[in-house]
Amino acid sequence: MNNRPHDLIVIGAGPAGCTLATLVKKYAPERRVLLLEKEAGPRHHIGESLLPGIVPVLKEMGVFEKVDGAGFPKKIGANYVWGAGRKVWENDFNEVNVTEMIRRFGKIPERIEYAWQVRRSRYDEILLKHAEESGVEVVRGAKATGIIEKDGAIAGLETLEPGGPRRREAEFVADCSGQAGFLSKYREIRGYHASLRNVAGYAYYRGAKWKYTYSGHPDKTKIFVCSVGPGWFWYIPIDDGVVSVGLVTTVENLKKSGLELEALFARELAACDELAPLMTEAERVENFDGSGQSFFSHSDWSYLNRAAAGPGWLAAGDAAIFVDPILSTGVTLAHVGAHRAAYTLISQWAAGAAERELLWKDYGAFCRESAAQYFVMALFWYGHDKDASKWWAEAGRIQRAWLPVVQSDKAAFVTVSAGLTQHYDRLFSASSLLDETPTRPEDYPFYVEVLKNAPGGAPVCRFGDGDAPRLLTPFDVSISFLPAGAGGRLKPVKRARFLKEDPGDSVRDALNPRRFVTRWHEVLLAALDGSRTMGELGALLAGKDIPAWWWEGPGRRFVEELAVQGVLGPAVAERA
Ligand SMILES: Cc1cc2nc3c(=O)[nH]c(=O)nc-3n(C[C@H](O)[C@H](O)[C@H](O)COP(=O)(O)OP(=O)(O)OC[C@H]3O[C@@H](n4cnc5c(N)ncnc54)[C@H](O)[C@@H]3O)c2cc1C
Repeated sequence: MNNRPHDLIVIGAGPAGCTLATLVKKYAPERRVLLLEKEAGPRHHIGESLLPGIVPVLKEMGVFEKVDGAGFPKKIGANYVWGAGRKVWENDFNEVNVTEMIRRFGKIPERIEYAWQVRRSRYDEILLKHAEESGVEVVRGAKATGIIEKDGAIAGLETLEPGGPRRREAEFVADCSGQAGFLSKYREIRGYHASLRNVAGYAYYRGAKWKYTYSGHPDKTKIFVCSVGPGWFWYIPIDDGVVSVGLVTTVENLKKSGLELEALFARELAACDELAPLMTEAERVENFDGSGQSFFSHSDWSYLNRAAAGPGWLAAGDAAIFVDPILSTGVTLAHVGAHRAAYTLISQWAAGAAERELLWKDYGAFCRESAAQYFVMALFWYGHDKDASKWWAEAGRIQRAWLPVVQSDKAAFVTVSAGLTQHYDRLFSASSLLDETPTRPEDYPFYVEVLKNAPGGAPVCRFGDGDAPRLLTPFDVSISFLPAGAGGRLKPVKRARFLKEDPGDSVRDALNPRRFVTRWHEVLLAALDGSRTMGELGALLAGKDIPAWWWEGPGRRFVEELAVQGVLGPAVAERA
């Protein structure tokens, strides 16, 4: 038996914990990875409607076929009835402009694959068994109860396990304990959103009818979401003829109604023009999934941890971020965030101290930015209830900020709501920029993101208690990391992001990120040696086929800003 302390202990075997443990073991098989799950067997969980954005992660984990073969209803989109018009807005994942993505990035499948609607007890069990088969040590019925600290760093856990209490040492502890947020409780780092404070009540029904425009057909399903007076309903066909029906309402609306949540749920369901006719012969499932319950309630407050990692620890999934369920993003954020956590952990094991610090900082930025687009969408969603085109336009701005693909606003909405903007880094990976890992920061190439039409000038996120809003000023320069193909490693790049009004179709093509970065990078390299005046740099840019407006406006300011930030040498600063 191996008595060496674990390299990594993961708390919680939900989507985040299983993804992290599986990928670390896949790419660093020599590491000892322990996954602790407090429940002894498969357990009920909310979060049944998944997004295609998880598919690349499931494939990388090697679990896609197992999930796909489990017989979950395939999900091809989501339909909405929202606000006064009561017209159904149909959304299909395959509306996304895949051709354009392939042209620009060349690395994605030719069509967007479906997702599924799942019974979470089964879905999570598949992930857990797969982690175990991948070499992860798993203990079920093992609850983390306390932390072991050494020199200000987390160095292990106290646990309560089937054999009794234990102390387990580890180099790293990953909090993937979901909303329980085991470490964020100790660290007091959870920041709740000031206004997204909802509550959800839900139940499962057998014999509920399907209507094509609401839920597709058994072969290709959709989820259905519709607004009602105090909030909104979800209607999600899961397996075995069972439909999950849930009401999300604000804490204020619940109080105002003077009813218990279950009574408000029943009243609103009976009064809902779209759902009531589907429920006439439906029977509620008692003791769903052995939970002993037939009606469930869940606090639904959105939050973001003020830190995603620290000495000896990291958090991923709901333990780090929770964004309102309106867009069904939770499981996607859990898989994609844990994927990044695994890459960060593996990369930092191979890195020196300075780069290690940057890697963790970058992981924090990744979590904030992943959450930001969905916070912006959720807030917009709740703030407007009339015109679908406004949602599409807002999604268009968000998509273009994260993923520079030209397509209609409606298709942009589908892209965001399919969880695909999350994969920008994966589409535009470091291997397309770098042949080998540079050793000195000054050798890192620039990775330039053009944030066109960013909402309100910039994506901003405000939190209730303390976390400062993050504004992307005209230029934001940082060291960032990109996945270097599959292999569990991140490579450093200098990331320069700048905001620009949408320059129109003719210029968009000139800004094709991959070509633009290369040309712009050559100019920046010339600027780095400090021997050229700004005028000479301008001429150089013109020769590189970079549009004149770029140099006259944002390009010039960009170089000046780099000089001020000390990224370029002092000679350029003087000349600028
Ligand atoms: C009302 C509502 C509706 C939602 N609808 C959707 C949806 O349609 N689609 C979607 O994608 N998401 C949805 N979500 C979000 C989704 O439920 C979560 O985002 C997702 O489950 C997060 O995965 P995770 O792995 O981070 O955490 P979890 O799935 O919560 O897993 C955490 C695991 O940690 C274990 N654990 C906790 N504490 C300890 C401890 N001390 N020791 C050991 N183990 C521990 C738990 O038992 C659990 O198995 C919804 C959420 C809510 C509240």
